[in-house]
Amino acid sequence: MTTFAGQRVLITGAGSGIGRLLAQRAIYRGAYVIAWDIDADALDRLAAEFPQRTAVYRLDLASREQIKAAAEQVIEDHGGIDILINNAGIVCGKPILQLSDEQIERTFEVNALAGFWTVRAFLPGMIARGHGHIVTVASAAAINPAPLLTDYGASKAAAAGFDDALRLELKRYGLPIQTTGVLPFYIDTGMFAGAKSRFNFLLPVLKPEKVADSIINAVEKNRARLIMPPLVYGMFPLRLLPPALFDAVTGFFGVSKSMDKFTGRST
Ligand code: NAD
Repeated sequence: MTTFAGQRVLITGAGSGIGRLLAQRAIYRGAYVIAWDIDADALDRLAAEFPQRTAVYRLDLASREQIKAAAEQVIEDHGGIDILINNAGIVCGKPILQLSDEQIERTFEVNALAGFWTVRAFLPGMIARGHGHIVTVASAAAINPAPLLTDYGASKAAAAGFDDALRLELKRYGLPIQTTGVLPFYIDTGMFAGAKSRFNFLLPVLKPEKVADSIINAVEKNRARLIMPPLVYGMFPLRLLPPALFDAVTGFFGVSKSMDKFTGRST
């Protein structure tokens, strides 16, 4: 069991969406939340809602230097953290030739590389204290690819692979640190506005509150992996099919057209 009560919980992307809901839920369970985000206004709103229970830090997770500096500041201010939730993510939703080089690099920096820098900064303290929990919010796109998500899907596959290898490595060296990898389908936060599911009863666009509740529950139960909705588990055996058959099956479920009406955030 991992408990939130009395723990220092760092959440990246805590200003909005799933990150903010996780922050609220962790605080309600008695945690102290260290919130990282690039959006200063969103951080201010979180700090105003929970003035005694949060410390907010504005930084750009695409910058390794900013992550290292913020991590040093957090260790100085709070002595370390107990639970790390790597949640921040970005999506462009464009065909590969319409992406700029910078957009591709930034997607990898925020969605995949930031996890390396945060874990490398905070894992030594967790090991020294003999406990810790590292959560990686990847995506079903890691195993369930779709058009317009070459950069996003590849970056999330990197994040999911990082989580798997990290879990094995921690076990291999007998380190008492838990990990939870999270692979959700589309969530109704606005990040993927316009993305559609063909069979909503089988593969629903998820409610943010339900996703946040499930993540908290998975962390508390030390579950190594959380995939939502359950149908996405079917991707693992499907991946054994020859590619043409795989494409036909995922096409039937509408995955290959799911991003056709993507608008993303208007801001
Ligand atoms: P969101 O856009 O609502 O929130 C993301 C937060 O991350 C925002 O507060 C944003 O300001 C912050 N952020 C973005 N770039 C940053 C940067 N460079 N530095 C610091 N902070 C930054 O997104 P969400 O829907 O809550 O998604 C949370 C996680 O879940 C992401 O990793 C996302 O990829 C993943 N996910 C989302 C969906 C979905 O459909 N929304 C589906 C599967 C996985």
